[in-house]
Amino acid sequence: MNNFRVFKQVPRIIYGSGSISRIKELLPKKDASNYNIYIIDDIFRNTCFPGKDNISDGDIIEWFPASLGEPKTSQVDSIRDNIRQRQINSEPNAIIGIGGGSTLDVAKALSVILCNEGSSSKYQGWDLVPNPGLYKIGIPTISGSGAEASRTAVLFGKDKKFGINSDSSMFDALILDCDLIEGVPLQQRFHSGMDCYIHCVESITGTFINELARANASKALELCERVFLCNGSNDQLMTASYMGGVSIVNSEVGICHALSYGLSLELGIRHGLANCIVFNVLDDFYGPYVDRYRQMLEKNMIRLPHDVCKTLDSMAMSRMVKMTLRMERPLANALGINWRERLTEDMIRDLYIQM
Ligand code: NAD
Ligand code: ZN
Repeated sequence: MNNFRVFKQVPRIIYGSGSISRIKELLPKKDASNYNIYIIDDIFRNTCFPGKDNISDGDIIEWFPASLGEPKTSQVDSIRDNIRQRQINSEPNAIIGIGGGSTLDVAKALSVILCNEGSSSKYQGWDLVPNPGLYKIGIPTISGSGAEASRTAVLFGKDKKFGINSDSSMFDALILDCDLIEGVPLQQRFHSGMDCYIHCVESITGTFINELARANASKALELCERVFLCNGSNDQLMTASYMGGVSIVNSEVGICHALSYGLSLELGIRHGLANCIVFNVLDDFYGPYVDRYRQMLEKNMIRLPHDVCKTLDSMAMSRMVKMTLRMERPLANALGINWRERLTEDMIRDLYIQM
């Protein structure tokens, strides 16, 4: 008997330009006693946001301020508590997440804690969620994170950035409508797109790789290069993002993500940009891919900040090193089970200083 894990995938997807208009086909039927919960990036607050026509009386809209920062366990907990206070006599029917990786992760985490007791922080880690989450639909409005396809909901806790990694946090359905990513500013599009490129590199070069993950990651890498070197289309970017997420479900991220969590935790640098900064110093680990990445930086005229850690004192640096070392699975994926012999605290510190 082998000990392969069962990997869940998102079972239902509507794909293509304009597919948001078909959201009804994915929503479970509800009656007067239940309601849907919409978690929407508040960048859409004053617009005719995607899916607006479907919202009915009694449904709840929670605007998530993704432009202000990445989601926290405390934010998800208080959304859940507010909803319970407002809707004492009825049950939630489904959650619809509309936004980038941050907003989708809020929707995923909320679905977990509506069906499991206590704070979302209790479930940060691997496979700690006992009950299935509430039915949820993911509708990305920016591509790259792969949050639409992954089994992770990444949240900041008190002293760590960590995912709720579980089958219960996976979406039950997706709408992949490339029209929705049309308005993303170029720099943000690049940073989020590179998140996909980077986790596919980490997946394909990692020790946890299998053919299924390799097939998804290599196609996603090819699409990313088409998008960022040859002016490829939004549906290519959206497809890359989805395939990158599927690849990660079947493998793991690597050194870049492990280091980038430290930058986000201590300096508040957004995930996509943090990965871009870290990847630029990882020649020793991902050599040819880093060269290709620099071509994409140049072609898209993206400038990275330098010396980002120069203001940090030794305590802050130690917290970042500690955060990196917590990422045991990604580091084992990248460097093998004896990763501690190949990546010391001094080496991590040194890499941070180079950024
Ligand atoms: P994001 O959700 O953090 O959003 C980035 C910015 O883009 C925000 O200001 C947002 O308001 C804006 N935005 C979103 N859609 C837009 C649109 N259509 N037009 C204009 N602006 C728009 O970005 P992201 O890169 O998709 O996600 C990063 C987040 O995802 C981080 O919190 C990271 O930790 C998480 N993440 C999760 C996974 C996962 O598997 N769950 C994987 C990687 C990253
Ligand atoms: Zn990522």
